[in-house]
Amino acid sequence: MLRQIETTIYCPYCGEPQTILIDPSVLQQSYIEDCQVCCRPIEFQVEVSVDGEDVSVMTMTDND
Ligand SMILES: [Zn+2]
Repeated sequence: MLRQIETTIYCPYCGEPQTILIDPSVLQQSYIEDCQVCCRPIEFQVEVSVDGEDVSVMTMTDND
């Protein structure tokens, strides 16, 4: 069964909350996506628990 986990993060540039969807079938993910508000590139590091129920998301600026 395919599903996605919805979670809220805060942009490290402008601080605006935004909702992202995580695919829990991949336990460790990192990717860059532009902020929906200020369009600057946010680096996401995502960890999904083994049972696929919990996600933790770290957001960083691209130039760290
Ligand atoms: Zn932003």
